[in-house]
Amino acid sequence: MQYDLVEKLKKEISGFRDEPELEAVGLVVEAGDGIVKISGLYNAQSQELLVVETEDGDIFAVAFNLEEHFIGAVLLGEATPVRVGARVRGTGAVLSIPVGIEMIGRAVSPLGTAVDGKGSVFKDIDGAETAPLERKAPSVVARESVNVPLHTGIKAIDAMIPIGRGQRELIIGDRQTGKTAIAIDTILNQKNETNRPICIYVAIGQKSAKIARIIRVLEEADALKYTIVVSAPASAPAALQYLAPFAGCAIGEYFMDQGKDVLVVYDDLSKHADAYRELSLLLRRPPGREAYPGDIFFLHSRLLERAARLSREFGGGSLTALPIIETKLGDISAYVPTNVISITDGQIYLESDLFTKGLRPAINVGLSVSRVGSAAQTKAIKKVAGRLRLELAQFRELEAFVQFASDLDDVTKSKIHRGQILTEVLKQSDLQPLAFEREAVILFAALGGYIDEIPRARIKEFEAGLFEYIKSMHDDIFTKIASSRMIDDELDIALTGAIRSFIQIFAK
Ligand code: ATP
Ligand code: MG
Repeated sequence: MQYDLVEKLKKEISGFRDEPELEAVGLVVEAGDGIVKISGLYNAQSQELLVVETEDGDIFAVAFNLEEHFIGAVLLGEATPVRVGARVRGTGAVLSIPVGIEMIGRAVSPLGTAVDGKGSVFKDIDGAETAPLERKAPSVVARESVNVPLHTGIKAIDAMIPIGRGQRELIIGDRQTGKTAIAIDTILNQKNETNRPICIYVAIGQKSAKIARIIRVLEEADALKYTIVVSAPASAPAALQYLAPFAGCAIGEYFMDQGKDVLVVYDDLSKHADAYRELSLLLRRPPGREAYPGDIFFLHSRLLERAARLSREFGGGSLTALPIIETKLGDISAYVPTNVISITDGQIYLESDLFTKGLRPAINVGLSVSRVGSAAQTKAIKKVAGRLRLELAQFRELEAFVQFASDLDDVTKSKIHRGQILTEVLKQSDLQPLAFEREAVILFAALGGYIDEIPRARIKEFEAGLFEYIKSMHDDIFTKIASSRMIDDELDIALTGAIRSFIQIFAK
């Protein structure tokens, strides 16, 4: 009897495990400024979605800092008061966003909820597919070289700084130099394209009124039907501003994985860096250069690396990224600008000086480059614009002598004159992107020297008239360039003829 009891006890003791089960529950030990410090929750992973139980209901947070005894998390809701001692549950899932075709034409928050007052985006939010906000960039084998153009509809860019689908091209410049305008024009221009990409405009830290204006512009130009706006205005918590570009990228990847082409604009990554700095400082991460945390380079590189042109085996989709960076007094050597410059495949530099002189878009052609796009440039534009960069460079050198114009020889004079004509041709108002066949036609006329005799003040008028004339009298020229994407000898002759006869009419 005694023996039995001892045996029983022995058995029970041997079955005893001295390992308490870990329950995914923690407690808030510190709260404030949209940040909570949590104890417990030992098995939380980085970027895991957490649920904080407050008196007003559950709110979401994301695990950011995983330390030995504590987790630093950022709250995703508006400044809801969180009490010390509040319970926190882990969800086991990293942060993701619902995605789907329903998003097209809508403005959403970085968490996928509607912000345009048109009702919920998804009929069945629980049934919707989700995409993780952070995902590994496509590997080298999944990629193909960039060889399909992404026309911006802006003459200077398509001719000299061509962008290809899957490329990352930075738009950089001081405030109010037309950065957003270039991105928006590019979105508007996709209306003209045959294989139209889905466009995603990510607004980070901008005034709500400005974002509303952009949505209105897209709507009025009938471009919202293929565009998604991801909005994290200045009034949104820093956490949401931080997440916005990743959300835009995740939505883009969803479509890219289906073999579609996608264009994503990040407007702008300077404000994104500021939001990240704010979060990092609140989380007491050590500040580095310009008080940005040390991993700011990694932040932007892991975002922009996700832009890709996938090979055919992987569906052949693409994600083109147009990040925007705002500089201060043209200083491109500041921390965030240099980082992003080094991550991207090229830059479009905008300058206040040019902008105030009326040279708009205010692109500094000498400094701007596109390192991969020329492989994707349409033959038609390549043929007519091949010499454009060179002629403009020569013109800039000679421009200094303009004041002594009477002493110049004829060759120099004509070079200066041509440069002035080209400069005039490259001026383009915002919200007026041109289909590439039209760009090809006007550049053909300008670089062929056909419009050297037109007074500079009338160049814009001439351009509009020429398009009108060709459209009504020789529409086949436009359709042929658009379909064959090149100007062969036959088209060359037809186009020269059309331009000559219009010049006769125009001169009268
Ligand atoms: P911010 O720093 O405020 O974001 P930004 O650099 O994005 O400014 P935009 O908002 O695009 O600049 O443009 C500033 C102003 O210049 C706008 O009023 C816009 O309409 C005008 N603008 C931009 N591009 C052109 C252009 N090519 N021709 C004429 N006006 C333009
Ligand atoms: Mg802007």
